[in-house]
Amino acid sequence: MRYVDELRDATAVRRAAEAVHALVTRPWTLMEVCGGQTHAIVRFGIDELLPAPLTLLHGPGCPVCVTPVAVIDQAVAIAATPGVVLCSFGDMLRVPGSSTDLLAQKAAGADVRVVYSPLDALAVAERHPERQVVFLAVGFETTAPATAMAAHEARRRGLGNFSLLVSHVLVPPAMEAILAEPRRRVDGFLAAGHVCTVMGLDAYRPLAARHRVPIVATGFEPLDILQGIHMCVRQLEEGRAEVENQYARSVRAAGNAAARAMVEDVFEIVPQTWRGIGEIADSGLRLRAAYAAHDARRRFDVGDIRGREAADCRSGEVLQGLLVPTACPAFGTRCTPETPLGATMVSSEGACAAYWRYRRLAPSWPTATST
Ligand code: SF4
Repeated sequence: MRYVDELRDATAVRRAAEAVHALVTRPWTLMEVCGGQTHAIVRFGIDELLPAPLTLLHGPGCPVCVTPVAVIDQAVAIAATPGVVLCSFGDMLRVPGSSTDLLAQKAAGADVRVVYSPLDALAVAERHPERQVVFLAVGFETTAPATAMAAHEARRRGLGNFSLLVSHVLVPPAMEAILAEPRRRVDGFLAAGHVCTVMGLDAYRPLAARHRVPIVATGFEPLDILQGIHMCVRQLEEGRAEVENQYARSVRAAGNAAARAMVEDVFEIVPQTWRGIGEIADSGLRLRAAYAAHDARRRFDVGDIRGREAADCRSGEVLQGLLVPTACPAFGTRCTPETPLGATMVSSEGACAAYWRYRRLAPSWPTATST
C-alpha cells in the first residue's frame, strides 16, 4: 500500500494543485477519458482544487456504460435459452436492457454467473461440456486481449460449447467523435492510462496532430491526475499539441506488443454503436471469420435483436461531457443505483454513479454543464 499512499499524500496533492494554479493564464477545458479517472476526481474532489478558468469534463470511458441496449437484450435472450450458462463481469448484471436485465433473468432461474475473466468462463465450459457457455465480453483495449485469449484457447482446445457475445470498443475513435461534436470544445485529453499500457501512445499521435489537442496518458490516483492536468495545461499554455506520458510506471510508448498481436489475430475493426451516443466508425471489434464457431450471435441467432433506450435517460450527453449527471432531471429521483434508468448509474465507473456516491449530499448540486 505504500505506493498508493504516496499518490494520495495530501501535501503532495496540494503542491501539485498549486503548480497547476501557477500555470493557468486563461480558460481551458480538459476531458478525462476514463470512468476510473472520473471516479477519482469526484471522490477526492480534485476538480474543486483547480483554478476557476480550468474546466474538467467527464468522458465516455466506461465500457459498461457504452454497451448498447441491444447487446444487453441479446444477452438476456441467450441467458433465457435452456441449457445455457451466461457469464460476465458483475457490473453487467444490473445494466438495463429494453425491458429487463441479466439480474432479473438470474432471479427468474437463468444460469447467469459473475466471473472475473473470460478465461474463468472458458473453465466453466471445460467443466460442463453438456452446457453451452457464453461470455458477454465488454471493455476497451484493456480487456480485449483477455477476450482474444479466451477465443484463441477455445479454438485451440476444440471447445465447441464456448462462445463470445462481443461488445468491445476502441477509445481513439470515440475521442475523434467528441472532437467533431460542434457543441463541445475539448482543448486537451487525459487519456486512460490502462488503455495506453496495452496500445501504447502511437494511436493518439494522429489525433493530437489533426485536432491540435494535447493528449496525456494519465493514471488514476489523485497525484497522477493532477500531474496529467499539469502536463496538459503546460502544453496548451506553450502552444503545443503532443502526446505525453504521465503514467510512465505502466505505459511504454510501444504498448504491449504481445497483447496487441493477440487482439489483431482474433478481432477485426468494425463500426460500433455506443449506448446513448450512436454509431462511431471503426470503434468496435468483431471476431474474425476464423473464430466464427465461437461467435454467440451466430450460434443463438440473436443478431437481429434491436434495443430501445430509456427515453428520459440522458447518459449519452453525460458520456460526451455535455451534461453534469446532477443536471439530469431523473438523477436521484427516478434514477438511483437501486432503480437505474441508464448504465452510467449502475457501473462502478459510471459518472452518474460517481455523483450519486460522492456528491449527492453536497449542499447544492452542480446543475449545469461545465462550460
Ligand atoms: S441520472 Fe440516470 S437517467 Fe440521468 S443520465 Fe444518469 S443514468 Fe441516465
